[in-house]
Order: sequence, then C-alpha cells, then structure tokens
Amino acid sequence: MNHDRSRELYDRALSVMPGGVNSSVRATRPYPFFIERGDGGHVVDADGNRYVDYVMGYGPLLYGHDAPEPVQAAVQKYASAGPMYGAPTEIEVEHAEFVARHVPSVEMIRFVNSGTEATVSAVRLARGYTGRDKIVIMQGGYHGAQESTLVEGDAQHPQPSTSGVPEEFAQHTLPVPFNDPDAVTEVFEEHGDDIAAVLVEPVLANMGIVSPVDGYHETLRDLCDDHGSLLVFDEVITGFRVGGLQCAQGKFGVTPDVTTFGKIIGGGFPVGAIGGKSEIIEHFTPAGDVFQSGTFSGHPVTMAAGYEYLNYAAENGVYEHINRLGAKLREGISDICADQAPEYTVVGTDSMFKTVFTRDAPDTLEGQCEGGCQQRVDCPRYDHCPKTGADVANAETERWERIFWHEMKEQGIFLTANQFESQFVSYAHTEEDIERTLEAYKEAL
Ligand SMILES: *Cc1c(COP(=O)(O)O)cnc(C)c1O
Repeated sequence: MNHDRSRELYDRALSVMPGGVNSSVRATRPYPFFIERGDGGHVVDADGNRYVDYVMGYGPLLYGHDAPEPVQAAVQKYASAGPMYGAPTEIEVEHAEFVARHVPSVEMIRFVNSGTEATVSAVRLARGYTGRDKIVIMQGGYHGAQESTLVEGDAQHPQPSTSGVPEEFAQHTLPVPFNDPDAVTEVFEEHGDDIAAVLVEPVLANMGIVSPVDGYHETLRDLCDDHGSLLVFDEVITGFRVGGLQCAQGKFGVTPDVTTFGKIIGGGFPVGAIGGKSEIIEHFTPAGDVFQSGTFSGHPVTMAAGYEYLNYAAENGVYEHINRLGAKLREGISDICADQAPEYTVVGTDSMFKTVFTRDAPDTLEGQCEGGCQQRVDCPRYDHCPKTGADVANAETERWERIFWHEMKEQGIFLTANQFESQFVSYAHTEEDIERTLEAYKEAL
C-alpha cells in the first residue's frame, strides 16, 4: 500500500495542529492515513487505498457512510433552511419524544453538543440535585475529556490522570474497579452520605469492552437507592447500539436515574444528551437552578439526522442485521483464536467487537462463550477473561498496537488504533466484508 499523500498531509498537519490531529486517538504511528471519503462500510484514503471500516467514527455511524435516504433528505432540508436559530424548533421536540418513548429511564432530555458536555452536565446536575460533591467512577471507564472523571488511582488515593486537573478536583472522585461489588460497597460504607452519583458505562466500552458480571449493575442500583445517590449510566457509546432502541439499560434490565447519550443519537453530527426522570432533569435551568446552556444545543441539523436515524431503525431490521454480523464476526474470530492464539479473549456484544490480547489460556476451550465474552461463570475462560480496566491494561497492548493493527491495516481492514477502543459493525457492512475480515484475522493473529 502506498501512503505518500497521507504522509505529506500529516507533515503539514504537524505544523498547525498539536500532534497533527484534532482528537488524540487519531494520531496512529508512525502517521495516520487521511480519509478522503466513505463508501458504505468502507473508507478510501488520500492515496486511494480502500479499507473495511470498523472504526465508524468511534461509534456514531450506525449505518456506515451511506445514511438511509430519509436521513440524507432531512440533513439537506434542515441545513439549507437554517442551519440554526437560537430559538426552539419542532424537530427538537420530535427527537426528545422519540427518545423518551424508547429508553426506559428517560422522561425528559436536554440535548447538548458532545458526550463530554453530557457527562459534565450530568455530574453538575447530580451534585446540584443531591447537594453532595463526590462521584464514583470505574477504573478504566471513560466519560470524555472532563475534570471530574479524568481521575485514576483508587478511592483512597485518587489522582488526576492528566496534567491540567487540580489535585483538589480529583479528591471529589472515587475510582473503583468495575465488576467488583465488594469494592464499591466499601466505598459507600465510608462515603455514602457524600456521594452524589455513580457514573458507569453499562459495558466498559473504551477499555477493551468489558461486559458486566451477573448482578453488578443491580448492586450499584441498590447502593444508590440506599444512600440517596444517583445512578448515572453513561450510554454515550452503548446508547442505540447495545440493546437496540431501549439501549443497554433495557438489555440489562437496570434503570438508572440519569443517562448520558452521544454518538449515535446525533446521526453522525456532533451531539450529547442528558436524560432521566423529569423530577431530576427539571433541575436544569431554566426549570431549575443547575446552570446548563449551549449555543449549538439541539442544533436542527443534528436533531433531524438523529431523529431520522433512530426512526429508520425503528421501522427496519437494522439491529437484527448488525447484531447478526457482529455475532458472526465474534464467533469467527473466536474460532481463529482457538487455533492460533488460545490465550486471546474475544469480547463484545451486539454490534461491538474486539480481541483482547490476554496472556493466559485456560486448559480447555470446551463450552466457552462463543459470541464474545459474556462473563458466564461456567465458561472455562471465566478466570482469565478481563473483568476490570486493569485486566485489559495488563494484556499485550504493545503487540496489538505496533504489530497487529498495522498488519490489519495493510490488509485493508481499519480497526481502532489501540487495544482499548471498541470496533463497530454497521448496517452497511456485508457478509462479504465479514468473510474478508476473518481472512485478515487469520493472517494477522
Ligand atoms: C465517546 C464517549 C464520551 C465522550 O463523548 P465525546 O462526544 O467524544 O465528547 C463519553 N462517554 C463515553 C462512554 C464515550 O464512549
């Protein structure tokens, strides 16, 4: 593959943008390929190379790069009619009604412009609503680029995970290991009266994809109920991806107090949202006293794209298609791993997938979870598969990033550039794409 043009572009980019990119994960080594256009489930780069795309914008592109006709028509219509006003529009109400109709926890919703803005607002809301300052997060969870959650360490020793966040901010955040009911119970025993909220991704989706063990979310729900804290599901990535239109909360049967959205809910345009019970969401200004505002919030083009995106999914077998292809991919990769790399764990659910380069193989693979790790206690891999963010971090992350990712790229398969981020099947992917992808895994693993 020739990458001359991408290299030239990156050379220029390095002079005018930090690291040559506008979002840090894009700076793949030694330099990223620059995309010229999308085509269904594929992208074509600046040198004319074609890839099967499983990055899918890091999650938003449920339909790949060819949005259904009603989405395209709505985007054109709202872009040329406005594109925006700083005054309410009907399409915002339509979209809010749609989400409230389908997502169990949502009675009311506030639309914003990014997942980060959604989690920032959700944390402020939880603090304003409860009058408390502390929040619990999961080690290895991701809630965007925000001060309250860019925190690592544990509940005894929370530390900023980046420079630029004051130590004092980090003291209000209590990181706990995902899937560990005892650890979070202990934190509640010590700090329960000060905890405004628990923020959790229903599936750790920015850290290898880690599914919850049985009962974990129920434990969080009970602890929050017992202590008057809010349970916040960060469904920025899982929303309208896992569990279809009811989202991961519907699939797992646990109803949070507040849900944050982003990615798919904007139909490919910048978006975030905070939904929940009216009694809580109405604490946002102007109904309540927790300040929240935004020039572009509820942008008509985004609202139209998001609404038509979800409406199309409600009327067509979109989830049936992508979840079937997702399962086929995970099963296929599981078979290849069984032959070539039995220590690796295939993870993911619905249309999400990843292979975590875990280091230990069980004695037998007989009866293992075949469609991706589901944390089944009787799976032979159960003691070896990742349960926490730390387990994923302990995998062979360097091999993944420096060797495997490049080999896949050279075979025309575009995966997320590190061991940690999810990959996505879209409605535009075909059986043939899946076959080709499995052949590439067979070569590269
Ligand atoms: C992507 C993501 C965010 C941040 O959303 P942005 O739109 O990138 O700001 C927050 N939480 C989760 C779970 C995400 O996957």
